[in-house]
Amino acid sequence: MTNPECATSLAQLTDDKAFLPRHIGPTPTQQAEMAQAIGYPSLEALIDATLPEQIRRAAPMNLEGPRSEQQVLEYLQHYADQNVVKRSVIGMGYHDTFTPAVIQRNVLENPGWYTAYTPYQPEISQGRLEVLLTFQQMVMDLTGMDLANASLLDEGTAAAEAMTLVQRVNKKNRSKRFVVAGDCHPQTIALLRSRAEPLGLMVDVANPDELLDPGEAFGLLVQYPGTYGNVVDLKAITEAGHARNTLVVAASDLLALTLLESPGAQGVDVVVGNTQRFGVPMGFGGPHAAFFATREAYKRSTPGRIIGVSVDRHGNSALRMAMQTREQHIRREKATSNICTAQALLAIMAALYAMYHGPRGLRRIGERVHGLTSLLRQALADAGITVRNEHWFDTLTVEVGEAQSTLIEAALDSGFNLRVVGHDAVGIALDETTTFSEVAQLATLLGADIPPSAVDEQLAPSGIPEALRREVDYLQHPLFNDFHSETAMLRYLKRLENKDISLTRAMIPLGSCTMKLNATTEMLPVTWPEFARLHPFAPMDQCRGYQALFKELEAWLCECTGYDAMSLQPNAGSQGEYAGLLAIRRYHQARGDHQRDICLIPSSAHGTNPASAVMAGMQVVIVACDTQGNVDMSDLRDKVTQHSERLAAIMVTYPSTHGVFEESIVDLCALIHDHGGQVYVDGANLNALIGLAAPGHFGADVSHLNLHKTFCIPHGGGGPGMGPIGVRGHLADYLPNSTVAPIPGLPAENDTVSSAPYGSASILPISWTYIALMGAEGLTRASEVAILNANYVAHRLQRHFDILYTGSAGTVAHECIVDIRPLKAATGISEEDVAKRLVDFGFHAPTMSFPVAGTLMIEPTESESLAELDRFCDAMIAIREEIRRVESGALDAEDNPLKNAPHTLSLVTSDNWPHSYTRQQAAYPVASLRQDKYWAPVSRVDNVYGDRNLFCACPGMEVWQEESATE
Ligand SMILES: *Cc1c(COP(=O)(O)O)cnc(C)c1O
Repeated sequence: MTNPECATSLAQLTDDKAFLPRHIGPTPTQQAEMAQAIGYPSLEALIDATLPEQIRRAAPMNLEGPRSEQQVLEYLQHYADQNVVKRSVIGMGYHDTFTPAVIQRNVLENPGWYTAYTPYQPEISQGRLEVLLTFQQMVMDLTGMDLANASLLDEGTAAAEAMTLVQRVNKKNRSKRFVVAGDCHPQTIALLRSRAEPLGLMVDVANPDELLDPGEAFGLLVQYPGTYGNVVDLKAITEAGHARNTLVVAASDLLALTLLESPGAQGVDVVVGNTQRFGVPMGFGGPHAAFFATREAYKRSTPGRIIGVSVDRHGNSALRMAMQTREQHIRREKATSNICTAQALLAIMAALYAMYHGPRGLRRIGERVHGLTSLLRQALADAGITVRNEHWFDTLTVEVGEAQSTLIEAALDSGFNLRVVGHDAVGIALDETTTFSEVAQLATLLGADIPPSAVDEQLAPSGIPEALRREVDYLQHPLFNDFHSETAMLRYLKRLENKDISLTRAMIPLGSCTMKLNATTEMLPVTWPEFARLHPFAPMDQCRGYQALFKELEAWLCECTGYDAMSLQPNAGSQGEYAGLLAIRRYHQARGDHQRDICLIPSSAHGTNPASAVMAGMQVVIVACDTQGNVDMSDLRDKVTQHSERLAAIMVTYPSTHGVFEESIVDLCALIHDHGGQVYVDGANLNALIGLAAPGHFGADVSHLNLHKTFCIPHGGGGPGMGPIGVRGHLADYLPNSTVAPIPGLPAENDTVSSAPYGSASILPISWTYIALMGAEGLTRASEVAILNANYVAHRLQRHFDILYTGSAGTVAHECIVDIRPLKAATGISEEDVAKRLVDFGFHAPTMSFPVAGTLMIEPTESESLAELDRFCDAMIAIREEIRRVESGALDAEDNPLKNAPHTLSLVTSDNWPHSYTRQQAAYPVASLRQDKYWAPVSRVDNVYGDRNLFCACPGMEVWQEESATE
């Protein structure tokens, strides 16, 4: 490092490495001191002792060096400049929208919202839980269904989840056939085909006019309104379907539902769709929140997270994620779906958009879009031009015959992207941002005429069939009616934000989740219009900047992991697992090995692993772990030999979910390969590896990378995320593709795993920026300090708690597991009591009971400073001291600060203090809390009550309805 005081040139005063100390918490001097405290002469010595020699990279990564934030943003601007923002009226589920500025600045661009974690700890998550509950209410109201979840990844995968749900619950019809209306979005149809094949299901595309009698099927999917714009009566379809025991799924559009009769009122069983056009930028495909709504009867089979209303210890209403045990972590291969990370931040934005506009405002937007469409349709009809759809909401399919290509070109020259439909038609979908003069321009392009006076004339006749028109019977809850002024909205947002713990308050030491810095510079490009306003199916020559960025990011990620090819399509780790296992499946099939369907999974695996294996048509065989937490090699040898003929793959996490670098990994990979299997390494723990070791070098064939863990995409309170997969060369031909916008270099017939070809494209610049800032040197240092920080925490805590599992040198990888079971046996104090007591100290709890029940897994990441690590360790040690006092009898076994945690402000200031310890002990157990105190808004939330009395709508609704009924 240069010392500015002795600089001899301007070059020495220019610091390209300026970002490294911003990202990495401990200073170089502290790093050395911490290593010494642990018992190693230097950081390098700690790493040498911890990382098995066999897996170490032979050579450093071939990436450029660190760059400054200014340099990287300039570099990125060159890519942004190569993207062209046109008015895309392509539709197909993606529409331009206005993000209300108050939501953009205070939520989308606000780390208080975007750095929060999934609300597994309800007491510190009431703010985001409230908006997610409102999201569910919004979806239930507009779709007319009993129940909605708190988001899925995209419309296509939501439709696939609906297909598998109706297959599971339809006990009266065990047919394997699923019928899809031909006017569903083509990307959805492609995705359903991929999803169906490994499960032995058949997807048949039916003509829209055959839907009343499509033959034997367990389920049926209709698009409402259809991809070409038509609006059909769902009632006749559901009645006919139900008469033959076929369940009916509708894919729909919330803006259309402000005017159209709800699918629920027409008897539909499941409604799915995308909430993108509710204020979330198209982002070249994502991220945005899909929704999933269904009947009460199917609530326990519903995929994804559901927020429910429960009560806290004192009987106050409190929110929590309902049926958490139903989630994949417990149910594994019997899980309803593999969804883990979803789209919380985007669901929050969509719900806030609905609250900002309210039912009348949304209705107005819907009517305006519809009115403009009707006007265009009228002008076309007057000019003798054929519009194919008889009914419409916002989309028209116009016959143009041989003029198609000239017309598309002319539209481009005027700044519009039209949809290309077949060889003789174009599609036009209008949206919230469409102006009257744009519609006049579109009419002129097509050879029709809209005079300027039309803006003042009586609205053209509606395209919605009489029987399907809807009143404003939705969003009556006060939440949708109280925040229409910006002041009210701003204060509401701040109030909610202040209820939650995000990275803006304290470290979030969640093992396996890697809650590191999400630097502001990395976040800036997300809202640049050149990245935010592109339609995923815009012509290739308008997204050259994105293409160049993807190519470079793919190459960088390949360099980081040792793989030969990368797919940016999967929208989360779970989707990467599924895509990676599908690639393995296709590889075996191509070699004639159709019988290879066994997937070995160690008992310590994350729950998404077995759930994904089942989705990829594999049978899960569990491999035992030994007492050290390593894969039991002798059990593995037995299982591999036993299943040799049928062995498809093994899924292992590296370093293990126990936070250890297993020395046997190289042998493990070789053993699997000897028996013809493939090795899937779950890349969730890559934060311990980048620059030090690469799965592609030590024997793995495929991995997903959670970009929202290792590569700095924020968790958004439960999403978005991205789960690209890296593969070795022999699997490269089986990476996912898109039928609508094919990815250069991939076979056209490949599987589709996301609606958009590059998943949630608009957050990829975050990871690109991180790598560009850090360079090879910075990324390697980040891994080393992640390992250092974990070992430092383990070292400080080991005199007070049992640390489970260490490697042969007695060190851990990038996380450590604290065993609470012996303390519980001695005192009754559980891991949950410790987790909730940490809230009183202002901390988010570590990961609870994963991968081992009764434990806490701590992952500090490289971004936390020595001071913050010490503050956290001090809190844990103070808690241990309280447990000792319970043990000695100085504190009551039941009435103690641990069992009663967290303590709310109202409790501590109450005139009535019935407890056997002081208020001081409850609220200010360490002096530093006097400076900065977080107060949980509710006390401990009742887990059981919420599940027994599942209630997933906004509370107060009935009360409010009763009141308005008596008005
Ligand atoms: C986070 C995680 C996953 C799942 O990733 P999502 O992005 O949440 O779908 C899988 N495996 C492990 C070990 C993880 O920590």
